Amino acid sequence: MVNPKYVYLFEEADGANKNLLGGKGAGLAEMTRMGLPVPPGFIVTTEACLHFYKNKKKLPKGLVEEVEASLRTVEEKAGKKFGSAQNPLFFSVRSGAAISMPGMMDTILNLGLNDKTLEGLIRITSDGRFAYDAYRRFIQLFGKIALGVEEKEFDQILIQTKEKAGAKEDTELDGDHLKDICRQYLRLIKKKTGTPFPQDPTVQLRLAIEAVFRSWMGKRAVDYRKEFNITPEMANGTAVNVCTMVFGNMGFDSATGVAFTRDPGTGENVLYGEYLVNAQGEDVVAGIRTPKPIQAMKKEMPKTYRELERVRKNLEGHFHEVQDFEFTVEKGTLYILQTRNGKMNAQAIVRTSKDMVSEKLVNREKAVLRLKPHELEQLLHKRIDPNFKGKPIAVGLAASPGAASGKAILDADEAERVGKLGHKVILVREETKPEDIHGFFASQGILTTRGGKTSHAAVVARGMGKPCVSGCEELRIDPAKREASIKNATVKEGDLITIDGSRGEVYLGEIPTVDPEISKDLLTILNWADEIRTLGVRANADTSESAIRARQLGAEGIGLCRTERMFNAADRLPVVREMILAGSKEKRGAAIAALLPMQRSDFKEIFRAMAGLPVTIRLLDPPLHEFLPSAEELAEELRKLKEVESAFSTMENISDAMKFLDPAFRESLGLLDHVVTDIVEIKEKRLDRKLIRKQHDTLRKVKEMMEVNPMLGHRGVRLGITYPEIYRMQIQAILEAAAELIKEGFDIQPEIMVPQVCTAQELKWVWQLVLKVQKEVEKQYGIKIPFKFGTMIEVVRACMRAGRLAEGADFFSFGTNDLTQATFSFSREDAENKFLPLYNQRKILQDNPFEVLDVKGVGRLMMIAIEWGRKTKPDLKIGICGEHGGHPESIEFSHSIGLSYVSCSVPRLPIARLAAAHAKLKEKEKKPLEKYDPDVFGIPSV
Ligand code: ADP
Ligand code: MG
Ligand code: MG
Repeated sequence: MVNPKYVYLFEEADGANKNLLGGKGAGLAEMTRMGLPVPPGFIVTTEACLHFYKNKKKLPKGLVEEVEASLRTVEEKAGKKFGSAQNPLFFSVRSGAAISMPGMMDTILNLGLNDKTLEGLIRITSDGRFAYDAYRRFIQLFGKIALGVEEKEFDQILIQTKEKAGAKEDTELDGDHLKDICRQYLRLIKKKTGTPFPQDPTVQLRLAIEAVFRSWMGKRAVDYRKEFNITPEMANGTAVNVCTMVFGNMGFDSATGVAFTRDPGTGENVLYGEYLVNAQGEDVVAGIRTPKPIQAMKKEMPKTYRELERVRKNLEGHFHEVQDFEFTVEKGTLYILQTRNGKMNAQAIVRTSKDMVSEKLVNREKAVLRLKPHELEQLLHKRIDPNFKGKPIAVGLAASPGAASGKAILDADEAERVGKLGHKVILVREETKPEDIHGFFASQGILTTRGGKTSHAAVVARGMGKPCVSGCEELRIDPAKREASIKNATVKEGDLITIDGSRGEVYLGEIPTVDPEISKDLLTILNWADEIRTLGVRANADTSESAIRARQLGAEGIGLCRTERMFNAADRLPVVREMILAGSKEKRGAAIAALLPMQRSDFKEIFRAMAGLPVTIRLLDPPLHEFLPSAEELAEELRKLKEVESAFSTMENISDAMKFLDPAFRESLGLLDHVVTDIVEIKEKRLDRKLIRKQHDTLRKVKEMMEVNPMLGHRGVRLGITYPEIYRMQIQAILEAAAELIKEGFDIQPEIMVPQVCTAQELKWVWQLVLKVQKEVEKQYGIKIPFKFGTMIEVVRACMRAGRLAEGADFFSFGTNDLTQATFSFSREDAENKFLPLYNQRKILQDNPFEVLDVKGVGRLMMIAIEWGRKTKPDLKIGICGEHGGHPESIEFSHSIGLSYVSCSVPRLPIARLAAAHAKLKEKEKKPLEKYDPDVFGIPSV
């Protein structure tokens, strides 16, 4: 078998092959081929590294000879000789895998130094102190990395020498001190390894290459790859880059620096970076001297600056991406030592994407792909001013992004009251319940001490686009004292606090924030994304305000409008309660009749805002008792009422008793007399009794309605079938709202959606009701009302019966929140609060399935439902309206399984548009569905 080629000169290698050359090597090779001034050198491939491991950690046969040969060529190019005392050549030996793994291994600089070549270095740098400093660093690094001598042994020598010399910093040591340190280091190495420090440069080089290879399987590197999920497909083995040393410290015509081809903070198209005159690369990083901004070079080294400008243009023209590069100037000659794609913040990515398309450096597709959906998220929320330097008082979970300040308020009623006074509010609770919803409306943000990222507080806050920190367990709420406390701080109700839901942080006081903005550049990119994507994007919106906002953010309709949100409004709740508690059909009828115009006008507003686009309205879903006060609350009120009643009885007798009082007293008690008369009146009308009876009734009803598992109980379509009046009213309100707007000339596209359906019979039953109402309304208005009728798919049985369900539905919408609960048989709140964190920690589950769609289980069910649904109805529209609809990975999955649209919370719309475009563009890279097919990839091992 012929050995593969293990060693490539920079000019020989194919820079496109990062897997073989590593990222750094590929960059050096590319730059060499482009004609940029890279010091000569060569790359030992990752393949050699893999052979090293196959070969009992010995360099593969032939490698040493190849290195020798390349070395000769490099010597010729450099006009210097490796190991020569007169004109020595030195190398840096640098690791580099296909994916950058910072800190995995140190670079060995000045390899080739020994007692002899040291003299040469002193001569070429005319700096004895520098030469000894370089030698001692080399011995130490080489000793540690290649020979395995512990770093602290070297440190001890350094510390002792510094003490003797009375020096605080390394920089205070002079040449003689450093010379002495070198001597001691060499002795140390001999003592520890049993052999003298290798003076032969070729031996040094061989040992260094082996050491770089060994570092690939070092604990640090292995842990790093595990932590960042770097698989062998992404990076397999490290390459070794052997590069001629150049010196930036050879006088004032020498320098070293790092630069970006554009400003990574703003994206502005200018050379950006820092440099130091007469310095080595490490000095910039180590912060020994403060570097100057690169613009200063225009004056100080104008020729080099012009060269750097050319390099900048060349690099971008070649890589079609902003580059982050390292350079050194040796006696006026510029050398480029490294280049890689520049890391930028989201704002800079947006700006450069837009600019680079105008400059024809990249096309629109590439420009859209450069912006990652999760990076876009940074731009869409208020953030704490990055210049603010204070510390948080507590840290919880980053449950809903954004920053907000306000008065800490401990219950929803008070939050509403304070909010109405015009104050900003942060609702602070142990946990929240559906009945706290008015508190959410009144608040800028929500802070809870319990609950996970999908607790009620987190989900509702995300839906409203309000910041939320949940599970902030350090915080203790004392409802009696009306305060919340933490180790050494107390927040009294009404005190100002700030929360940062992007990072889970809580601060005392009002911290300055910066506003999100959808810049013109971002809008341009989102429009390009829209051109690319084929997956529709809709919003989950329950009010006309959020519908308007959704439209501005590019929604192509509403995928989920939850009618119960309207039931919870302050003016509706009492009527809703009447409807639920009504003892007779007539009474229920009256309550429902009162609700009808309210719902109709709600729908009208939403339809109007969304004219020309579809609006999916879900019929009532939650169990009815969610609209009622809790049994405990009622019992407590009843007890108080009874106390008042008995107090009344005592008061009645007071009038008589007063006759015995001093007449002077009696006069001043005239007022009491009045009160007593009133009380007697109340008693005669038996008002108190009536109130108590009513309270009793309510309590009885609430107890009747209590369920063991309400989320699996009397809700959704079950509710519609047992209380047909409610669904009937809602259907009527939808169709009447549509009819009125159609008459006004609007294009209205209502879609009626039934929740929790598990059998085709349920759907049929509701359909009959719809037909009946449709006839009535069409007759009344004298027009045809176009609408669609469909079902949520959120029950496992519905997935299995999708073929039948499709017969009675124009569309499906996956409710993946419930479907996930049903698939795992996890109750979400319990899972989040009790065992999910541990499951994630132990990797029993990779992700929280309520955040990241479980494609292997839930996704599989969705695929089955789609397959059977479309067998019945090839043009069946299918969407997803669970929280997952706004999550980039789930959006990619939704695209690949052929969904028609995703529906997400309003603030996430830009993310969904971008993610849908990414999904379309990535489709080219992979075979459809393969990635998700458990049969191809094996059933997950959990
Ligand atoms: P990293 O992977 O940490 O970026 P490098 O291999 O780029 O490590 O080396 C670190 C620093 O060492 C570089 O930034 C540069 O300043 C210096 N360096 C590396 N190779 C050379 C060389 N051939 N000549 C001069 N300086 C070098
Ligand atoms: Mg570097
Ligand atoms: Mg549901």
